[in-house]
Amino acid sequence: MSGSACHTSIGDEKHTVHWFRKGLRLHDNPSLKEGIKGAKTIRCVFVLDPWFAGSSSVGVNKWRFLLQCLEDLDRNLRKFNSRLFVIRGQPADALPKLFKEWGTTVLTFEEDPEPFGRVRDHNITALCNELGITVIQRVSHTLYHLEDIIERNGGKAPLTYNQFLAIIATMGPPPKPELPVYGWHNGAYTPLSDDHDDKYGVPTLEELGFDTEGSNPPTWLGGESESLARLERHLERKAWVASFGRPKMTPQSLLPSQTGLSPYLRFGCLSTRLFYYQLTDLYKKIKKAFPPLSLHGQLLWREFFYCAATKNSNFDKMLGNPICVQIPWDKNAAALAKWANGQTGFPWIDAIMTQLRQEGWIHHIARHAVACFLTRGDLWISWEEGMKVFEELLLDADWSVNAGTWMWLSCSSFFQQFFHCYCPVKFGRKADPNGDYIRKYLPILKNMPIQYIHEPWLAPEKIQQSAKCIIGKDYPLPMVNHTVACRINIQRMKQVYQQLKNYQIIENAKCERREQDGNATIVKNVVMSDY
Ligand code: FAD
Ligand code: MG
Repeated sequence: MSGSACHTSIGDEKHTVHWFRKGLRLHDNPSLKEGIKGAKTIRCVFVLDPWFAGSSSVGVNKWRFLLQCLEDLDRNLRKFNSRLFVIRGQPADALPKLFKEWGTTVLTFEEDPEPFGRVRDHNITALCNELGITVIQRVSHTLYHLEDIIERNGGKAPLTYNQFLAIIATMGPPPKPELPVYGWHNGAYTPLSDDHDDKYGVPTLEELGFDTEGSNPPTWLGGESESLARLERHLERKAWVASFGRPKMTPQSLLPSQTGLSPYLRFGCLSTRLFYYQLTDLYKKIKKAFPPLSLHGQLLWREFFYCAATKNSNFDKMLGNPICVQIPWDKNAAALAKWANGQTGFPWIDAIMTQLRQEGWIHHIARHAVACFLTRGDLWISWEEGMKVFEELLLDADWSVNAGTWMWLSCSSFFQQFFHCYCPVKFGRKADPNGDYIRKYLPILKNMPIQYIHEPWLAPEKIQQSAKCIIGKDYPLPMVNHTVACRINIQRMKQVYQQLKNYQIIENAKCERREQDGNATIVKNVVMSDY
């Protein structure tokens, strides 16, 4: 909770605006619940800048997903004679005008853990204070209040996952999810006008300037309702796995599944805490025991990256980012474009990038493959470039998790296992032995025999002809010699880390000297202190 400008005296009516940003759901929504308590009127708003939509670097699949989330919210709010108000404009311009028009006394929203959101919320809170509007924020995008974790770690975010787990272990379980909102209380209502649809309806993709003609039906359907159906299937599958053995990675795992949850957690259609506790309950039921921390490993990884990023506004950059190793990456716009557009000549990499562009989701190991290829494996291009492409195309792209995992994969932070590079042929063959995945996303290669599907440039001319795919004409030749590139890059990475080690020794010596001099300046060297 923050910035209460306790202006409402006893007898004053409470007129609430709940501002949706992430957290696009009615279940486990503590700030909305606070807004509802004792309110006379309640309006749920989402602010969207149509100009920004058309010009931003966010792809059409992500916009479609967001609009579907908003439509679903609107549908669910209608069930109790309410609606969603989609406001066109910038929050700092549009909201204060409406607050005056509506006589708003309370603004509620989910606390945003990311630095840019925090700045925006700080500004809106200041505006509300001037207007005498009470602001109520509650944590519900992450399991924990991240500040608590940081505080317990002496004011810094833990820099290794193990450190993070050690702190979590001292904190006890996260707060339980709140019950869903099924309606307003005691005569509270949402004032609606006849022209609601014109003024505040959920826009279409066309209205946002996207040309949707001839586009395929989306693979992922946005919204809370869909997320809850998926959670159920996800848990059924988990129950099956828990009873019958370990889940196996099969080529099928590379395809989008009806149990995938990451885009829903990203937009907050699904509460992390609901997911957490449903997993806990399931485990207790099946195993008749209290679950280990590892049951929630993946959610805790998410939490770890959120925690690492929450106070670092340069978390998505190399420069000015204290946890990022400064690696002298190459700049190569042409090579980057080949990677981003699935034109590298390595079918495994190109199929993944095609799936990403068409559907907006790729499997974790597929992310490893393409991230390694772009950075330390083959192209030696900065992780920042890869992260931006993911940000545009990936439905689940989170500012914190995306940047954190890219740093991790490129050995820029958290992780130093640069001796192992994924081979785009061998890795592909292991994950997709028959090449079915490749054939699905790169139909030009559909007639290539299994033997050559992962390295079609080795196919004899005759075979290329009968497969109706001439390499170098219909499908590109490989853009690099992987064996050579990978050898050179490992050497480069070794050099970077050797220099860092020397630097660390010098810095440590300096630090010691300063301490001896009685100078309290602490030289922070977070990156190196962690190996
Ligand atoms: P599940 O495997 O079922 O996991 C459930 C949830 O746990 C996920 O939805 C996600 O929220 C979280 N999670 C799982 N694995 C990780 C992980 N390694 N790190 C952090 N959280 C995790 N995940 C994102 O949610 N957003 C991103 O922007 C993102 N970018 C990535 C970039 C790269 C280069 C890599 C290698 C991984 C990235 N991931 C990201 C992590 C992971 O690949 C996805 O979370 C996962 O593939 C989503 O599929 P799922 O829904 O089946 O997740
Ligand atoms: Mg999964």
